[in-house]
Amino acid sequence: MLAKSFKRTKIVASIGPATHSAAAIERLAAAGANAVRLNLSHDSHQAHAQRLKWARAASGRLGKPLAVIMDLQGPKIRVGELPAEGVDLVAGQTVRFAYGANFSDSGLIPIQYDFSTKVRPGELVSLYDGRMQTVIEAVHQGVVTATVKVGGNLISRKGINLPDTDFSGDILTIKDIGDIAFAAAHDVDFIALSFVQRAEDVSGLRDKLRQLGSDAAVIAKIETRLGVRNLPAITKVSDAVMVARGDLAVEIPPEQVPVVQQQAVRLGQRYQKPVIVATQMLASMAGSPQPTRAEVSDVATAVMQGADCVMLSEETTIGEYPVLAVEMMKRVINYTQEFATLHRPVVEQFSDQGALTPGLFAAAPAGGQPAGGEQPSLSLQQQKAIPASAILLARQVGAKVILAETASGQTARNLAALRPPMPIMMVTHQRRVYHQLAIVWGGKAFCVNDPKRAGAEVVEQLKQAGNVVAGDFIVVASGHRSGVTGGTDTIRVKVV
Ligand code: PGA
Ligand code: MN
Repeated sequence: MLAKSFKRTKIVASIGPATHSAAAIERLAAAGANAVRLNLSHDSHQAHAQRLKWARAASGRLGKPLAVIMDLQGPKIRVGELPAEGVDLVAGQTVRFAYGANFSDSGLIPIQYDFSTKVRPGELVSLYDGRMQTVIEAVHQGVVTATVKVGGNLISRKGINLPDTDFSGDILTIKDIGDIAFAAAHDVDFIALSFVQRAEDVSGLRDKLRQLGSDAAVIAKIETRLGVRNLPAITKVSDAVMVARGDLAVEIPPEQVPVVQQQAVRLGQRYQKPVIVATQMLASMAGSPQPTRAEVSDVATAVMQGADCVMLSEETTIGEYPVLAVEMMKRVINYTQEFATLHRPVVEQFSDQGALTPGLFAAAPAGGQPAGGEQPSLSLQQQKAIPASAILLARQVGAKVILAETASGQTARNLAALRPPMPIMMVTHQRRVYHQLAIVWGGKAFCVNDPKRAGAEVVEQLKQAGNVVAGDFIVVASGHRSGVTGGTDTIRVKVV
């Protein structure tokens, strides 16, 4: 059956030492990966440039899009070097932190990023993935003095989180600035921004990229308390959102993470942006060919919530079974999408009423999307009217697929956001858009040379693949005023 042959939820595979070869990347893509994540927190620019080339080659050979995501480290703060036996922190004790300090000389705990200019007394400094907690008493000449609330043994290079600290729009580090220039000079589809706190963090990065001549889209990683609070506004200005559960579960109480994940997926549907659910999805597969029951359930839950993508991290960067992990994810996605029922926006009312919990988030500013067009922007309601009608029409004529002819990708994303029951064939003549559509829920992207014959070429391919047969109906939605946000303006019914 047709629905079975297209994964609706997509897979992002992070690349690392375990998958650092042309063959490994091609195997991941062949097994079902739709995007690769190159994590700039690790490995050299040279290694990442190489992986990018391998990803493009794999995509070409397999004839499928493969999005390349470069992920900025952001203000990921770590402890510096400590004695080999670590340092015991005891509740009630006073500790001091300073950038670049030498512990044996001074007793100051070294930090690899100077947060003394950002923090204030009363704020929490959480150490070693939240295992230890200290509260700031004073900040003086670069030295942060804090009282230990929850003690433990602190060792070198463990992560520090500052869940209460407002970076006031300045989340990029010197390393990030260099990494942005590197990414902008390469053929990258997405840049992921870590530790986003507010919408301006995202628009600021996009402005920088455009100045540097890059057309990469921006993924906002939701992994801070303020990022959650400002999720509606952030989703609105971002090109995609990642629920980065690793750091998120340190910055907010872990029991809140599943609800944030659900609400993020719903907000993605409201604002027509793909949402990636990330971290520890099949974590045990880093060292075992079998996932745990809880992990299988985690992937299935994301699919049932309607996530656009699920992501693999250690499983494919340093794991022993990277290809098995992708295959397992794909099996869970395929089974779940076939047999579970999915929360869908009500197409007839093109409404997501009741989808969001009131009061959890700060409200997003009103108005249309900020995508940067000079054209007057349509309201969200207006943007949804035509895709909703296309889906209604497709249901009524029993169309096998909806075909979206799209220059910018917007027509395809608008359709996908309404989670139609039939697959969406996304056709573009822009190579960048082709790869960017690989992380969008619902179907498959095609790249054609002649935009005028886009639909016809793809219908021919679908026929050859046996996905449609003579007499089948296809609904075609096109955005003829290309570049206009939400500019889907034509719906046709086609008989194969
Ligand atoms: P990271 O982001 O792997 O770059 O830290 C994902 C997360 O925090 O979950
Ligand atoms: Mn993170």
